[in-house]
Amino acid sequence: MTESRYNVIIVGGGIVGLAVALESINRFPRLRLLLLEKEARVGQHQSSHNSGVIHSGVYYKPGSLKARLCVEGARAMVEFCREHGIPHQVCGKVIVATHEEEFPRLEELRRRGEANGLTGLELIGREKLFEIEPHASGLRALVVPSTGITDYASVCEKYAELILAQGGTILTSTAVTGLQHLTGEVVAETTGGTFSAASLINCAGLFSDRISRMAGDDPEAMIVPFRGEYFDLIPQRTSLVRALIYPVPDPRFPFLGVHFTRRVNGTVDAGPNAVLAFRREGYQRSDFNLHDLASSLAFPGFWRMAAKHWRSGLEEFHRSFSKPAFVRALQRLLPEVREQDLVPGGSGVRAQALKRDGTLVDDFHFLPSKNVLHVLNVPSPAATASLMIARSIVDTASANMAWTS
Ligand SMILES: Cc1cc2nc3c(=O)[nH]c(=O)nc-3n(C[C@H](O)[C@H](O)[C@H](O)COP(=O)(O)OP(=O)(O)OC[C@H]3O[C@@H](n4cnc5c(N)ncnc54)[C@H](O)[C@@H]3O)c2cc1C
Repeated sequence: MTESRYNVIIVGGGIVGLAVALESINRFPRLRLLLLEKEARVGQHQSSHNSGVIHSGVYYKPGSLKARLCVEGARAMVEFCREHGIPHQVCGKVIVATHEEEFPRLEELRRRGEANGLTGLELIGREKLFEIEPHASGLRALVVPSTGITDYASVCEKYAELILAQGGTILTSTAVTGLQHLTGEVVAETTGGTFSAASLINCAGLFSDRISRMAGDDPEAMIVPFRGEYFDLIPQRTSLVRALIYPVPDPRFPFLGVHFTRRVNGTVDAGPNAVLAFRREGYQRSDFNLHDLASSLAFPGFWRMAAKHWRSGLEEFHRSFSKPAFVRALQRLLPEVREQDLVPGGSGVRAQALKRDGTLVDDFHFLPSKNVLHVLNVPSPAATASLMIARSIVDTASANMAWTS
């Protein structure tokens, strides 16, 4: 029988909630820990609908949480996969400039990467690019040797297995529907009963802003869902891509631009784009939820963002509905790819925090409040960085909430 009183409740069994649970129980083995997940299995949303890339940390502003936790997190992720026999490969990637105007940005990426402590970064010309990725087209490229690939769904399953082995409790098919503060404890009402704990950590991904409001806190931001759609290269054409081929990202957006990714199972996918979704877990173009859409439209930051980014937003919608337009974007990197080489693949929905002033929150963002800690913005590279995000969150939570080992 499940107990109803715990030291800590974690809401959300994605890769971040699971990593936080694992780090908590490793460091505080006597902690009575409960993880609540609304789906029937852990890791069913962002954590298993992603590109599977172990990011190196080359993109992020030096000094940011993303930079620090990604660089250390990538090493920790490779080590974790090695230790637990999870398929992975440190295959490296190329970031390809296809126009001269992109050269300064490519240089800047190299500077950022070096400032973040990456080694082996190399700016190369066409000939060297041809040796690494014979079908890619570009004027210059940045080689990032420490980038890798893995399967984050398997990582989630392994995290869950280790949590259970250490005595933690995971309840799936249990959605948190309300939170109350009583003296010295938080009470979680769920679809599977009521549970209380001295502290609570909110890792609810696409719903983290709503959970923070349930706890009586103001997240000062709203989660906006951005769907990323993929095409898969047909098996006869996967030889066009050896590892990972990325464009130079547009610094105005937190997304990386459509790219080619080889998966650990040998398939190659192209994407993801970044289209505003009309439902928080809206994996299909036709998915629509009135409450989700109405809350986006009622948020002042939404209209400020729309005013700033309407043109690129429309372009993304166009690419979402028009395969030829999607393929044209890909042909900048890989001119030989044709429409008939690509079949519709999966999709994922990113949880991106948006501030009232219309800016997209760039860095990871955690909000401690009394005996609750909210994880409010953990977009890519949070799967890569999950073990280090967990370390940082457990440092804060254990100090604020006086956990003892
Ligand atoms: C298209 C795409 C590509 C990406 N590519 C990469 C990549 O290559 N490399 C990388 O490092 N990162 C990548 N990311 C980012 C990465 O996947 C996410 O940052 C990471 O998975 C976030 O994990 P999470 O645990 O916060 O969220 P989630 O995995 O979404 O988990 C949140 C969990 O909370 C649960 N939940 C929500 N509400 C409740 C409730 N009321 N009660 C109980 N449970 C609840 C949900 O069911 C869910 O399981 C990508 C993301 C996307 C969408």
